[in-house]
Amino acid sequence: MSRRDFPAPSHGALPADPEHDPSASFALDPARVRRLTAQLRATSGSSETTYAPFTGQPIATLPVSDEGDVEDAFAAARVAQKTWSRTELAHRSALLLDLHDAVLDHADDLMDLVQWEAGKARTHAYDEVLHVALTARYYARTLERHLKTRRVPGVYPLLTQARINRVPKGVVGIISPWNYPLTLAISDGLPAVGAGNAVVHKPDSQTPLSALAVVDLFREVGFPAGLWQIVSGPGPQIGGAIIDRADYVCFTGSTATGKKVAAQAAERLVSCSLELGGKNAMLVLADAQIDRAVEGAVRGAYSSAGQLCVSIERLFVADAIYDKFVARLVKRIERMKLSADLSYGGDMGSLVSQRQLDTVTAHVSDAVSKGANVLTGGRPRPDVGPYFFEPTLLEGVNPSMTCFAEETFGPVVSVYRFGNEAEAVERANAGSYGLNAAIFTRDIGRARELARHIKAGTVNINEGFAATFGTIDAPMGGMRESGIGRRHGAEGIHRYTETQSVANQRLLPLSAPRFVSGGAYQKTVTSALRLLKKSGRA
Ligand code: NAD
Repeated sequence: MSRRDFPAPSHGALPADPEHDPSASFALDPARVRRLTAQLRATSGSSETTYAPFTGQPIATLPVSDEGDVEDAFAAARVAQKTWSRTELAHRSALLLDLHDAVLDHADDLMDLVQWEAGKARTHAYDEVLHVALTARYYARTLERHLKTRRVPGVYPLLTQARINRVPKGVVGIISPWNYPLTLAISDGLPAVGAGNAVVHKPDSQTPLSALAVVDLFREVGFPAGLWQIVSGPGPQIGGAIIDRADYVCFTGSTATGKKVAAQAAERLVSCSLELGGKNAMLVLADAQIDRAVEGAVRGAYSSAGQLCVSIERLFVADAIYDKFVARLVKRIERMKLSADLSYGGDMGSLVSQRQLDTVTAHVSDAVSKGANVLTGGRPRPDVGPYFFEPTLLEGVNPSMTCFAEETFGPVVSVYRFGNEAEAVERANAGSYGLNAAIFTRDIGRARELARHIKAGTVNINEGFAATFGTIDAPMGGMRESGIGRRHGAEGIHRYTETQSVANQRLLPLSAPRFVSGGAYQKTVTSALRLLKKSGRA
């Protein structure tokens, strides 16, 4: 199949609308910017301007933090954390539920900011609001379950009573990326706060206002001032200052930066979670419902213009349905509407920056120059906005091409044919990443079995990524170079705690009493051990 088999792409209604002016639909109230900026700890004297991906126009100029600001942020966070860690779990749960409501009440405003800063379509901005609300409710309702002191059997029944406490780490450093400024910063911080920690957070310099807007809501619903500190500035400049002071580091970003963060945290023996990159595969088995798989591929690959860690970048399709599937997928992609608009209706937004556009363009040019076919897409779309790139499907990608194994982090997917499922799994497992995978089939049992052989932290059946990502009770994170640790579920909150075992000894000591000989003691204890084994006790 080659590009010649398909009509020329015709994306986007916007270029046909000469009246359209995206900047006219959004104006940031300067007073609002001042109110949000006032929450930043930033006294370096320098400032940085952020630019809207939809237009390339400036959004706001914000002050930049330096190491002294990070120091002050930690000092204030430590004061707030002391009192906060003594609050009742029921009080924290109630505040999380209030935040849930506040985020939904202010959804439109938050989505405007996210779209303006990150350049994504409104429907993908809503995914972020949804995720913060889901996470707030989940942890509000499960704090008690995850954090309550647990009794465990002591070494000998009746003689030893043991309990395990979960104590907060202290102040958690969160370093987050630009692609999901609410989900990957606020949602990750909610369990940290729920567990009794304070947070010092550095959002990416591209998206500080989105994060500040939620922290504003935090205060509005009654979380104590000082509990969530925000500093802003280039990662290489102030990221290290956070890692040098944090009691735990929650990092989301690229694998390259994640390795540096891990090395620096290791120097201090401070633990961290690293949510990193992926080159995620979707398997379409021979019995899959084709239209459902096509929709799954579109949503899985082009959400947030593919700038999503769990995004599908490799499609493995069973030989028996390959031609039919690819033809329908191309048709479906060509119906997608690119949109630089704050209203619903667009299927895909912009890339975030010139740098991201350059990377995506380079990956496609490299593949094409080495013989790949562009089945659809493949071009930047400056007529829609300065960093737009068409949703792109490539065929004939091979290991000599950059996009074969490297994360593109854009709307570019390679499609491959497979003969049998074992071969598909093997090819999906190739490479160094292990974040997410998807399987489309009518046979759920078969898919569950295949999932066990796939090296990925999440596997979605008949969905691209949202089934696992939206299930907050299930851990989410990467194997191999996709990361260490998990967000969501018990692991997502336990990472922010230390366990503390407390045991008291009653009636008899745990060694031979003075009036009992060593031999007699051994005999008694040995009999006791045999009895305990018989009783089935752990
Ligand atoms: P990045 O690593 O360049 O930046 C992420 C954050 O780290 C930013 O806040 C940045 O300022 C900061 N930073 C940069 N250098 C630093 C340093 N030396 N020390 C401390 N902090 C530093 O990543 P990015 O390009 O912003 O984000 C895209 C990447 O993130 C992609 O690879 C994507 O797959 C990954 N990602 C992973 C997940 C996940 O959950 N696994 C989610 C989203 C994005």
